[in-house]
Amino acid sequence: MNIILLGPPGAGKGTQAKGLMSRHGIAQISTGDMLRAEVAAGSEIGLRAKEIMGKGGLVSDDILVAMIGARIQKADCANGFILDGFPRTVPQAEALDAMLEAQGSAIDAVIELRVNDAVLIERIAGRFSCAKCGASYNDHTHLPKVADTCDLCGNHEFIRRPDDKREVVTARLDAYNRQTAPLLPYYEARDRLRVVDGLAEIDEVADMIEAAFETLPKRAHTHALTQS
Ligand code: AMP
Repeated sequence: MNIILLGPPGAGKGTQAKGLMSRHGIAQISTGDMLRAEVAAGSEIGLRAKEIMGKGGLVSDDILVAMIGARIQKADCANGFILDGFPRTVPQAEALDAMLEAQGSAIDAVIELRVNDAVLIERIAGRFSCAKCGASYNDHTHLPKVADTCDLCGNHEFIRRPDDKREVVTARLDAYNRQTAPLLPYYEARDRLRVVDGLAEIDEVADMIEAAFETLPKRAHTHALTQS
C-alpha cells in the first residue's frame, strides 16, 4: 500500500508514519529527514537546502523529485511506502503520479491530519528528540518517563530542530498554507483523500487512519515496485 500523510508541520505525521510502518510492514520515507541527513553530510544537496530549510521555505521541486524517485526504487519499498513530507507542491504530486504510473503503481491513500494553527505552534515549539535513537518527545504532552533519559534507549542527550523555533515555524506554516494545501483538492478530485482529526490521542488517530483506509476505493491489483 502506498500512503501519503499530509498536514502542516507538527500535525503528527512522523509519529503516525512510524505506527503505519510497523503495522503494515512498509517503508517510512521522510523527505525532511533525508534533507537533514544531506545537510549533516555536507553534500551538494545539503549545502543548497540548508539555508532554505533554516528559513522555513521549500527546497526546489527538482531536488525533491529526484530524491524520491531514487528512494521509492529501493527494496524496502517493494510492499509500499508512507510518504511523510512529500509531496509538498502540486508539481511534486504530478511528478510522483507519473513515476508511479511508469512502474504500474499508484497512490492508494492520502490522509490529511487536520490540526489548528495555534495548537501547532505550541506542539512544534515543545518538541525534541533523543540524539541517539531519534525517539520523539514534547515538553507539553510527552516527556520521558525518567527525567532526561530516553524511554527507548536510555540515552541522556536530546536535540531540538533548529527550524522548530517559533519564528521559523510561522514561515513553515505559511509555506504549507500557500504551497501544500492546494494538494488537498488535487487528491480529493482523484478520490484518494480522507481527513482525520490530528488533535485526538495518538492511538485514536491511528485507529481513524485505519478506518479511513477501509472507505477508499481499492486498486484492482498491486504491482511490486522494482527491487534495487
Ligand atoms: P519536515 O521535516 O517535513 O518538516 O521538513 C523540514 C524542511 O525540509 C521543510 O521546512 C522544507 O524546507 C524541507 N522539505 C522537506 N520536504 C520537502 C518537500 N517535499 N519539498 C520541499 N521542501 C521540503
